Amino acid sequence: MARHPPPPALSDTPLAPGLYVVATPIGNLRDITLRALDVLAGCDLVLAEDTRVTGKLLSAFGISAKLERHDEHAAERARPKALAALGEGARVALVSDAGTPLISDPGYRLVREAAQAGHAVFPIPGASAVLAALAAAGLPTDRFLFAGFPPPKSAARRAFLDELAGIRATLVFYEGGSRLAESLADMAAAFGAREAAVARELTKLHETVVRGPLATLAADPQFAAPKGEIVVLVGPGRETAATAADADTALKDALSRLKPAEAAAEVAKALGLPRRDLYRRAMELKR
Ligand code: SAM
Repeated sequence: MARHPPPPALSDTPLAPGLYVVATPIGNLRDITLRALDVLAGCDLVLAEDTRVTGKLLSAFGISAKLERHDEHAAERARPKALAALGEGARVALVSDAGTPLISDPGYRLVREAAQAGHAVFPIPGASAVLAALAAAGLPTDRFLFAGFPPPKSAARRAFLDELAGIRATLVFYEGGSRLAESLADMAAAFGAREAAVARELTKLHETVVRGPLATLAADPQFAAPKGEIVVLVGPGRETAATAADADTALKDALSRLKPAEAAAEVAKALGLPRRDLYRRAMELKR
């Protein structure tokens, strides 16, 4: 006996003309939605980041569709063609390799220009690694900031993280395995003592979510060079933030032993306050 009831037949209601922004699974193929299947089967053209990846997805569901490439490089050529097709009343679907298009993936300009030209734009929601990771991390979700991929080069990454340190919200980053260790170390330095989580291979066979203090995750050998796709989440810091007086006391003590930058880093770690603000205050105190 089948474990699941068979999915309902695809809808035979014709699709309205317009651009459909279709989410696809981030691993587990069963995360496709029925509506996504309706749209992919019923549209005139599917714009795909990688036509081979999307071709495999479609054939897994017995769908054949006209596919065209729409990645970072091909988008400039594909966009005018897609806009012209929309102008003729076509139903055009946009998909990325996995998850929701436009979320650290191409498509923003196409959506903007389609809307500006007066075409309907329909979101077809589904999987996205940012929401899947938030759902399992056990960190506050009332306010979160999706920060995408940190810059690959260390100086740019530190400046990027320092800018985010004062934001009282859960921060969500995408990262690749080869850069995870250095990113976690920079996050521990920039954000201090905060709860965090590393979510890897979500919805796939080797799915893991490891939760703990940022410094502990940064020192965890399993994150030295892990394989697979990763989301890093950093909690918003303490509920009751340390006061300015606490910071001054700790900074004065640290400045008696250390240079301002080192003192700021030490206090940031201890009190979970932004290193950049503490550095500024350390310079004032020194003067
Ligand atoms: N548009 C996609 C979405 O909605 O999540 C994201 C595309 S972005 C190019 C790819 C990054 O998303 C990966 O490097 C990883 O950080 C994250 N990601 C995608 N799938 C994932 C998964 N199954 N588990 C964990 N992270 C994932």
